[in-house]
Amino acid sequence: MKYSISPTTTTPKALLKQLGVKEKPKAVWFAYPMATFVTPEQYNDEMEITAREVVSYGADECMAHALWDVCEDLRTSTDCTCTFGHEGGYQIVTILGDICSKKGKPQDIALLRDLAPVMQTQALCGEGRALASAVLQALDLFGPEIEAHITKRSCPSGGCPAFKTYHILVSKCTGCGKCLKACDDRAIMGKAKFVHVIDQRKCSQCDKCREVCPEGAVVRAGAKKPKTPPRPIPCRRK
Ligand code: SF4
Ligand code: SF4
Repeated sequence: MKYSISPTTTTPKALLKQLGVKEKPKAVWFAYPMATFVTPEQYNDEMEITAREVVSYGADECMAHALWDVCEDLRTSTDCTCTFGHEGGYQIVTILGDICSKKGKPQDIALLRDLAPVMQTQALCGEGRALASAVLQALDLFGPEIEAHITKRSCPSGGCPAFKTYHILVSKCTGCGKCLKACDDRAIMGKAKFVHVIDQRKCSQCDKCREVCPEGAVVRAGAKKPKTPPRPIPCRRK
């Protein structure tokens, strides 16, 4: 959640309370010129807050996606066209976009770690240098969460839309067949009065089955997946 704030000296904890944030966020981003992530260990530290915008991230929000958003904001908020700030920022945002879209490659983290320090020293604008520092800070703070998108092909928080999967709940499916007819990818198995099952290898996450299901039996899941049978089974519901 994004909030506008006025510069002040306070603790992140007091600021979050003032903004009405009830759940303890797993991280907070203070926008440029602070351009820094703050984690719960620092919530009681008094700090001079020069940012005019703060973003809080809950447990179900992805820090790889957060970093992507932050870098895109920094990149587009400056007119600077220097090679390291402009081109470097573009490369970093592209890599982060790939990581969040299931297209991350094993070498991507090393590439970010190589690019960012060069940008930190060579970019002419403050935003470009801040972008590079944010990348290095995020890799140190949230490395395992970011790397899991590549090494485990999963988004641990469930926040990245590209990593969400579709499932049909045994407790709700009546075997009406509407989802099977709506699926252009032939990713749904089933027959009348049998609980239908989605083949994850074929599903393109188009959402059509969820839209047509009259029972609310199709769910989109993040990190926590519901238990479903491997093949259609007779319906419990009539
Ligand atoms: S989300 Fe789309 S592709 Fe996946 S099972 Fe549903 S209708 Fe088929
Ligand atoms: S998931 Fe919904 S639309 Fe598909 S068969 Fe079951 S009840 Fe019908």
